[in-house]
Amino acid sequence: MHFFEYKNKELYCEDVKISDIANDVKTPFYLYSHATLERHFRAFNDAFNGIDHITCFSMKSNSSMAILRLFANAGGGVDIVSGGELYRALKAGVNPEKIVYSGVGKKAEEMEYALNTGILMFNTESPQEIDRLNEVAGRLNKKARIAIRVNPDVDPQTHPYISTGLKENKFGIDINIACDEYLRASRMQNLEVTGVSCHIGSQLTKVSPFVDALKKLKELIRRLTDSGMDIKYLDLGGGLGITYNDEKPPLPSEYALALKETIGDMNLTLILEPGRVLVGNAGILVAKVLYTKTNQEKNFTVVDAAMNDLARPSLYGSYHGIRAVKMDSENIISMDIVGPICESGDFLAKNREIPALKQGDLIAVMSAGAYGFSMSSSYNSRPRAAEIMVKGNTYYTVRERETYEDLIRGEKIPEFLK
Ligand SMILES: *Cc1c(COP(=O)(O)O)cnc(C)c1O
Repeated sequence: MHFFEYKNKELYCEDVKISDIANDVKTPFYLYSHATLERHFRAFNDAFNGIDHITCFSMKSNSSMAILRLFANAGGGVDIVSGGELYRALKAGVNPEKIVYSGVGKKAEEMEYALNTGILMFNTESPQEIDRLNEVAGRLNKKARIAIRVNPDVDPQTHPYISTGLKENKFGIDINIACDEYLRASRMQNLEVTGVSCHIGSQLTKVSPFVDALKKLKELIRRLTDSGMDIKYLDLGGGLGITYNDEKPPLPSEYALALKETIGDMNLTLILEPGRVLVGNAGILVAKVLYTKTNQEKNFTVVDAAMNDLARPSLYGSYHGIRAVKMDSENIISMDIVGPICESGDFLAKNREIPALKQGDLIAVMSAGAYGFSMSSSYNSRPRAAEIMVKGNTYYTVRERETYEDLIRGEKIPEFLK
């Protein structure tokens, strides 16, 4: 459920006409609906009422400080994967006690920063990382709270690039040897073993892989508890899918119910790391048609947003709905919607049957709130897009469009070339 709807054949975000925003801020821009973000957060977080839990938004899906603040105000924490994300989260006002730190390649400096900040927990992913964290914490005279991210070897039945919980993936430690690693970590001076974590993949459209993973984690926790460890947190990662086209993912309430039933009476705090499900359908990318052209094979619509703005179609072949911001044509044709970048892989949609578009028309690329702006780049020296948030009948620029000066910031021509 979201707040991007037509009124009199004009697409609105909440009570604001999208074409009005485009007139003011120019295109392309990302557009987020405050009401949708708030609703998604509450629907997800409230679904876990009845058990101790923390909803730690996976901020790699969208690291806009305005969105981080919104979720923090609603009681959320974040899941970070780098020192840069920690910096952003703190600047946005996220409570460090609700920050968990994931990722296979944490650097010593990043560990130090996180330890000094007092984050809740490190989700460690390898024996060497555990050694390094113990060393860094020792140097700072601190104890690092850790979970080990285990790889439960369940098939999430999603795209191979975003599936992470199979044996063949780079993530975590094999669940069958995790117990030994936990024993090793629990004997280290500067570590406090407090949790178990996993994250099996992204854009999952069934509950069963989550339940399978949870059962395996429960079993592991039982063994760890028997060995005298005090496991306080069970972090189940993120991964709940959304509807891009015709997928029918479970509702957060169905997901939560299945997990609550499987957890039963375990006395733990559950940590969830949703990303896409909170922000994906709360954002769109708005672009303008520059040119249309036709060859013998195809119709092409060239727009002013490209793969540098939204990488998912090029990167994963992902589907994003395309809508005309003004519905003024009934003539349905098949077209490729492409950007200006010099690569054949630069498309936003292929062979899409939608009403014909003409020069100057605005389009909305739907479901672009997750892994949209956060994966964008300035490839082809294209300044990154603006980000706008609508609340009710007002819109706010939450990130300015980059300028040409931004593009060359930090660059230097060495003396010998002068
Ligand atoms: C990417 C990621 C998430 C979020 O995944 P979504 O599919 O966006 O919910 C959560 N946890 C970890 C460790 C991740 O890497």
